Amino acid sequence: MRLLIDMDGVIADFEGDFLRRWKETHPEKTHIPLENRKGFYVREQYPQEFSEFVQEIYHSPGFYQNLPPMPGAIEALKEIKNSLNHVFLCTSPMLPKYENCVLEKFHWVYEHLGTDWVNNIILTRDKTVVKGDVLIDDKPDIKGSCIPEWEHVIYDQPYNRNITGNRRLTWDNWKEVLNIQ
Ligand SMILES: [Mg+2]
Repeated sequence: MRLLIDMDGVIADFEGDFLRRWKETHPEKTHIPLENRKGFYVREQYPQEFSEFVQEIYHSPGFYQNLPPMPGAIEALKEIKNSLNHVFLCTSPMLPKYENCVLEKFHWVYEHLGTDWVNNIILTRDKTVVKGDVLIDDKPDIKGSCIPEWEHVIYDQPYNRNITGNRRLTWDNWKEVLNIQ
C-alpha cells in the first residue's frame, strides 16, 4: 500500500493550538470550542470582524513549527513506517503567506520524526495529482485537476462530521481501518 498522510489536523494539532493561542491573545473576544467547529476553515466560522486577528495567529512566525503533535500520531507514524514501504506526508502550504509555513513544516517533521520523513514530504496545493492508494486527510472534500487514484480516508474531526460515505480514522483505530498489524 502506498499511503499519503496529511499534516495539519491529522498529525499536527492546528485547531487545538489555534484555539489555545486565540484565547491567550484575545481573552476578551468570543471563541469557538473545538467540538463546535464547523466547516474546514477556522477563519470562516469566526465573526467577520475578527478575520484579520484569526489569520494573524496562524501566519505568525513559529506557529507551524510549534504545533503539538496530535495525540498518538508520532507513535502511529513510526509503526506505519515499519509496516509499509511507501509512506509520504502530503501537505498543502498556506497561501498567499507561505514564508513561515513552508519552512516550519519541514522543521516540524525533522524535529518530531527525523530525516527519513523529511525525505518523504510532498508539498502541493493539488493532492489529486499525487499517486497513492490511501490519503488520510481531515479536509472534508479534496478537489483538484485530476480524478484522484487514492481513497480519501477522513481523519475524524468535529468540522468534517457532515461528510458521509468516506471511511474515517483516528490514531486510536488506524490499524483496524487500514488493516495493518
Ligand atoms: Mg489537514
